[in-house]
Parts: sequence; C-alpha cells; structure tokens
Amino acid sequence: MLPEIVIRLIYNAYRKEMDRMFGCIFCRIAAREKPGKILYEDEKCFVLQDINPQAPVHLLVIPHRHITSLNEDSDQHKELLGHLLAVAARMAKQQGIDGTGYRVVINTNAEAGQTVFHLHVHLLGGRVLRWPPG
Ligand code: 5GP
Ligand code: ZN
Repeated sequence: MLPEIVIRLIYNAYRKEMDRMFGCIFCRIAAREKPGKILYEDEKCFVLQDINPQAPVHLLVIPHRHITSLNEDSDQHKELLGHLLAVAARMAKQQGIDGTGYRVVINTNAEAGQTVFHLHVHLLGGRVLRWPPG
C-alpha cells in the first residue's frame, strides 16, 4: 500500500492533466458548460453546493478568476480574498448557521487535501465540527 501522500500527489497530477486537457472544473461550472448548483453569484465570485458534502451545509465560494491556490500571488488578491470571506459570512447567515457556528477552510496543496486547483473557500456547518481537523 502506497503512503497516502504519494496517492494524493499522483491523483493531483492526474487532476491537473485533466484540467489541462478539458479545462478547469470550476471554470466550466461558472461558464455553465458543466452542471452545478450555484446559490449566489456576483461579478467577483460564485457559490456552489459541494458535490460531496461533508456537513449539512457545505458550500464553496469560488472566485471567477482562475487562481490555482492561496499560494498564487496572494498579496495581489487581498481585496478578492476579503470579498470571498465576506460572501462566506453572508452565506452562513443565509443558511441559518451564523449563530450555531461554521468553519471556513482553504485547503492548499497535497498535504492539506487540495484536489481542485482553482482557489475556493469551503463553508462548512450544520453540525458539530471537531478540532483539530483530521
Ligand atoms: P479541495 O479538496 O480542493 O479542498 O475541495 C474541492 C471540493 O470540490 C471537494 O469538496 C469536492 O467535493 C468538490 N468538487 C469537486 N468536483 C466538483 C464538481 O464537479 N462539482 C461540485 N459541485 N463540487 C465538486
Ligand atoms: Zn478554474
């Protein structure tokens, strides 16, 4: 059995090659070339229902701009990054989890579990979330 990190690195290389060949999944969903449940959209970002939810509320706040991860020129995207968090907070309120609690997560690269290389903020809530995360 290969170590998990090796499996993740192989999977991520595969995903990046698929993106190169067919285009990024989130860019295709934003362009309505691939189906996805979009709950909110503005000129900077859109909010997508996660296809494999890890909590009763599991939304993805995704910039229209294709940025591969938080590693990519974060200093130049400060306003956009702030906007993504503000939209996450607004969606938490809309989903009725602002009072009970929620978590926003940005997985970056293989050890953190990033699998889609288009920056996105996870909004998770609707159940008790353990700490530290696995
Ligand atoms: P990451 O693992 O990169 O932090 O998060 C990627 C997220 O995107 C995962 O939670 C995964 O379930 C979700 N995802 C991957 N492909 C699709 C898709 O085609 N549609 C939707 N709605 N979510 C997706
Ligand atoms: Zn993209």
